[in-house]
Amino acid sequence: MSTVLVLNSGSSSLKYQLVDPAPGDALAAGIVERIGEASGRASHEVRGARTVREGAVADHGAALRLVLELFEETGPSLGEAGVVAVGHRVVHGGTSFSAPVVVDDDVVAAVRDLIPLAPLHNPANVTGIEVARELLDVPHVAVFDTAFFADLPAPAATYAIDRGTAAEHGIRRYGFHGTSHEYVSRAVAEHPAVTAKLAAEGRGPETLRQVVLHLGNGASASAVLGGRAVETSMGLTPLEGLVMGTRSGDVDAGIVFHLIRSGLSPDEVDTLLNKRSGLLGLGGVNDMRELTRLIESGDDDARLALDVYLHRLRKYVGAYAAVLGGIDVLAFTAGVGENAAHVRAGVVEGLGFLGLGVVPDLNAARARESRVISPTEPEAPARPLVMVVPTNEELAIARQSLAVLAAR
Ligand code: AMP
Repeated sequence: MSTVLVLNSGSSSLKYQLVDPAPGDALAAGIVERIGEASGRASHEVRGARTVREGAVADHGAALRLVLELFEETGPSLGEAGVVAVGHRVVHGGTSFSAPVVVDDDVVAAVRDLIPLAPLHNPANVTGIEVARELLDVPHVAVFDTAFFADLPAPAATYAIDRGTAAEHGIRRYGFHGTSHEYVSRAVAEHPAVTAKLAAEGRGPETLRQVVLHLGNGASASAVLGGRAVETSMGLTPLEGLVMGTRSGDVDAGIVFHLIRSGLSPDEVDTLLNKRSGLLGLGGVNDMRELTRLIESGDDDARLALDVYLHRLRKYVGAYAAVLGGIDVLAFTAGVGENAAHVRAGVVEGLGFLGLGVVPDLNAARARESRVISPTEPEAPARPLVMVVPTNEELAIARQSLAVLAAR
């Protein structure tokens, strides 16, 4: 067995999963939270059995040592699990990385150099890589959230600001959640309903036009033509685009100057737009389940929050259909996209002019597999498919880690 330990280091958390990439199984998964705070918490899950540890965790090094202890105590033993690589999720690869790389000192230095572009994410990614390299003597691979979008067409990647200033400061649209958009768009392209549709229309896979909506606590959209990302909603940072759990998504940049001239500091505006906006800012909660409960209890603020969220999504789907010159598949993924049927119905409502629609029973059904929820043939042969496709970023990172090692 060849397994990969996938690590996702946040500023105060360390998420991990031990993956057997060939069948695509998660052998164990867990998270250490509140690292560096007075009371930390670790949760380690193996085949449905959860072990929880409470207590202060000083730093990411201590967090990883705790994870290794949990593996030894409750299994599976990492020594016996055939760990051949550690795969690290790295948020920002800038223009330096358009594909996964085996980590060496130069890679660590380059990820550190990108900290000004991703001050909220890359510092923790660097720390996670450094402590893991000390404790785990196997090859380490960095998989970048921006990589799938490194090849965005120039008109989609370029902000219309002074070119010299943009070049000096690395300002362009990078895109994020790329591992998920790539995994889901591939799963869509390989789905039997999609290959059958293309065959019936006499078209090759290079013509497949997809819009992928990754709707989790963070949220992003991508337009994918024949496997290549041609547009995405996140930009220089993950702040641009859709309404998210706590992020505003698109706003007039003039709001930032107005608030700063009104007395807020740049850091306060940053916190406002990244942590106190979106569903939380409008509706008081960032979790879609809680928001839905508030709406059902008659809360008008929560209702408006969902309406703004859906309005933005419909605008993006319409815009991306224009970018692609039509749409063959609309795919929903991540926590909200995979689970919230009312959100999926709300997005396609009003987009019937693009041929988009869902069958209520199919939309309401719950399943772990990729599935089509739109009317299918023979009633609707030429219409786009609406699909629910579960994402699996850990599996994608594990497989990419093995692939990059095999290609060495
Ligand atoms: P993620 O970031 O992909 O883990 O997604 C987190 C989001 O998914 C949160 O807003 C959750 O409320 C939402 N979510 C998870 N399960 C459900 C569900 N059964 N119904 C609605 N939303 C859900």
